[in-house]
Amino acid sequence: MKRLSKSFFSVLVVVALLLGISLAGYPKTEQSKAKTKQEFDLILHDGMIIDGTGSKRYTADIGISDGYILSIGNLDKASGKTEINVDGKIVSPGFIDIHSHADTEVLSTAKSSLTQGVTTELISPDGGGPVDLSYMSELEDKGLAINIGSYIGFNSVWEEVVGYDDRRATSDEIFEMRSLVEKALQDGAWGISAGLFYAPGNYAQMQEVINVVSVAEKWRTNFPNHIRNENNHVLEATAETIEIGESAGIVPVITHMKVMGPDNWGKSVETVKLIQEANNRGIFAAADQYPYLASQTGLTAIVPQWVQDGGREEMLKRFADPSMRGQIEEEIHQTIQSRVKDANDVYFPTKQTTLQDIATESGVSPGEATMQILEKEGSLRTIYFFGSQEDFERILMNSTTAIASDGGATESSSTHPRRYGTQPRVLGKLVRKDRLLSLEEAVKKMTGLPASIIGMVDRGFIAEGMAADITIFDANTVIDKATFDNPKQYAEGIYHVIVNGQFAVKDSKLTNIQAGQALKRKYDMPSRPLNKKENKISAKGQLVNENQGKAQIDIYIEQKAGHARSKAKVQFIDKENDIHIKLEEIGVIQTYKGWASFTGTTKLKNSQKSIPILVTMDKKDPFTGKATISIKIGNEYHYRGTLKGDIEVN
Ligand SMILES: [Zn+2]
Repeated sequence: MKRLSKSFFSVLVVVALLLGISLAGYPKTEQSKAKTKQEFDLILHDGMIIDGTGSKRYTADIGISDGYILSIGNLDKASGKTEINVDGKIVSPGFIDIHSHADTEVLSTAKSSLTQGVTTELISPDGGGPVDLSYMSELEDKGLAINIGSYIGFNSVWEEVVGYDDRRATSDEIFEMRSLVEKALQDGAWGISAGLFYAPGNYAQMQEVINVVSVAEKWRTNFPNHIRNENNHVLEATAETIEIGESAGIVPVITHMKVMGPDNWGKSVETVKLIQEANNRGIFAAADQYPYLASQTGLTAIVPQWVQDGGREEMLKRFADPSMRGQIEEEIHQTIQSRVKDANDVYFPTKQTTLQDIATESGVSPGEATMQILEKEGSLRTIYFFGSQEDFERILMNSTTAIASDGGATESSSTHPRRYGTQPRVLGKLVRKDRLLSLEEAVKKMTGLPASIIGMVDRGFIAEGMAADITIFDANTVIDKATFDNPKQYAEGIYHVIVNGQFAVKDSKLTNIQAGQALKRKYDMPSRPLNKKENKISAKGQLVNENQGKAQIDIYIEQKAGHARSKAKVQFIDKENDIHIKLEEIGVIQTYKGWASFTGTTKLKNSQKSIPILVTMDKKDPFTGKATISIKIGNEYHYRGTLKGDIEVN
């Protein structure tokens, strides 16, 4: 919240008019307002826009300046410092990957991400990552080719406070963990990730998890969890995650949702139903999924949890105990069977061979071979061919399932192919070849939906006032090339990738700029479902902020379902700072339970230059209990005040 710099808004604005915009859909309309020639940093001409809401594609030009989308329509009469024709290509919001294990040292180039059209990655998933989020600014200082956001990891917090032993947390420890989570939320965390499958998160009982994460209720954020069990107990583990979210008042997200093992195939009927039922009773519950039927994790994933208690040294001691070794071997076999058909489906990409092959060569059982590998080489990266196509499709088709890679920026040549191919595989294989999704639906699952799950308000859509993260691809050729045997093969068909208004990829080549930012979430950016119905929002009255003085606001906006443009009047006057604005264009309106947000553009007095505006409004701010409105104009001015008056959302 910055006090206005008088030099920036030097002159008094003449009149604050109420402006009515009423445009249905998105034909290539004349944008009335352009009386003088508009100038932009960049104009994308004649692209086929798929805006991230799931709405049908349309053709238009896009004008971009200072990192924001400022105009959509016919810009033939405008001029741009750079203008390119993207006729015949799809223009989509940059892809937002909400489950990234990015190798942080390669984020300054992020070639694997950019060649997939990814412009933002959410790191520290599965409960991991630093407890102190200041690592984000350090990464930003080193230079970011894409945007990043961070979760706060439940497992990391638990480990920091309780340690690595299987025991109950004391009430003091619960209190301490809550403080760490809250501190991270204050520092901009995009949710609380958990890996209740992994030690030491798996030592936490459900109620303990709720006791810790419920501190986030007022933050209205999300809880992406690698559930305790993805095979024989996948139902209970899914239900548990939903119950944690529901009890704690945050959005449960089943991350890399799947059903493992032949004995469990078909259970997605029930796990998807659990998510749908939660949504039907008014709890937003979501999931993300990667487009492969094999998972990648460590080899310890098939070692029973009790054997791993206390960490690697303890595990090796148990292996070395002759009275235990036979039993461990037996239990590893059981776990293998619960996840995949047999040891032929357990694959080591670094060795390009299977667990069964290694076992056969050494003349031992797969269980014994597992222990020997762990003793000699540690927990190798392991690919488990776990899945059934039917479960995969059922999860994919569910409306609250987003696409996320479980990969992230890397330069490794011995990794899961999803790290090089996820989003192009969705577009090229699932959409074009398998015809499982429409292109609009697929784009939504990679842009607007993940943005709404984590609570972003200014990315994820092609709309006026949104940050200019844009991916331009050819729907007829885009495809992944990465395979399990040769994963380091960059995807094809992504032509241009724009990060915060700058080309990170141009003509399929990296420009090697670092336009990415470390993004921070604020509490007025709730996790929420994508709107399906008509939106109507209004607010009128005096805004009060002790430090910033008083202002006047008058908002009335109606937006039809599936429309990105609205019937609207918006007026904001901050006399003390000489700010009188009317909105020129309004982008997508987002609403949820008494909260609303929209972006748009406005102009300052004596300037023909459009600048972006971001408004969020809360009928009842969860921290103050009062009606609150926040208005951000450009990057310079931010007013946040309590409204004496009414806010209506729908
Ligand atoms: Zn995971």
